[in-house]
Amino acid sequence: MQPTNFVGRKNIDIHQAFWSKVDIKSENECWKFKGHKNYDYGSYRKIGSGGSPIPAHRYAWELAYGEIPKGKVIRHSCDNPLCCNPKHLLCGTQQDNIMDIYARGRMNTIRLGITKVKLYEGEIWLIRKLRVVKSRGTRNTYKFPAPIVAKMFKVSSGLILKIWRSNKMLCREGYYI
Ligand SMILES: [Zn+2]
Repeated sequence: MQPTNFVGRKNIDIHQAFWSKVDIKSENECWKFKGHKNYDYGSYRKIGSGGSPIPAHRYAWELAYGEIPKGKVIRHSCDNPLCCNPKHLLCGTQQDNIMDIYARGRMNTIRLGITKVKLYEGEIWLIRKLRVVKSRGTRNTYKFPAPIVAKMFKVSSGLILKIWRSNKMLCREGYYI
């Protein structure tokens, strides 16, 4: 897919403003975002918006395919967080994202005690889910204690409790979940 295919005449300036910040290469190569970074991801402020910057790869997907369906995440098939090539961007569920995280061993990259390091969106989502787990086929519910979940994610119990108590946590992708 070439960028020109999905540039609508009406939105041409919006598209140009964004794609001029992307190192567009051939169809199957990674297209690196050249602007600001937020952690590992490209960070882009939409023109005419006073709002906070958004992850560049998410915006690239929106420009290419339309609005991201609610509850869906955009992930990289190329594992290159800066890449904005729509061909390398997959729209999936949080579960898909978590499977990816495990498959690629990203869990191991999270380090304890470094205040700057935060969890990925999918991990925060999963931690919230682990607060109450319903066992299949019965009405029983089981709660995982925070120290157990903390060990699973190699973070402090304090952070787990913080995630459980707040519904606004900054994730590594650079936005609140
Ligand atoms: Zn790529």
